[in-house]
Amino acid sequence: MVNLRLNVNNVSDLKCENCGVKLNEDNVYIRIINGKEHYFCCSHCADNYEARIK
Ligand SMILES: [Zn+2]
Repeated sequence: MVNLRLNVNNVSDLKCENCGVKLNEDNVYIRIINGKEHYFCCSHCADNYEARIK
């Protein structure tokens, strides 16, 4: 499990890739899946997303 600090400029465009909720620097949860960064609102959404693409 990887949780990195966000260093993206256009944070306002980020949405949780699982549930679509808007993300900001304070609530973003980043996980590396298949070598790529994916953005979520919480570890629960990251788990759901990861389970779906496998
Ligand atoms: Zn979410």
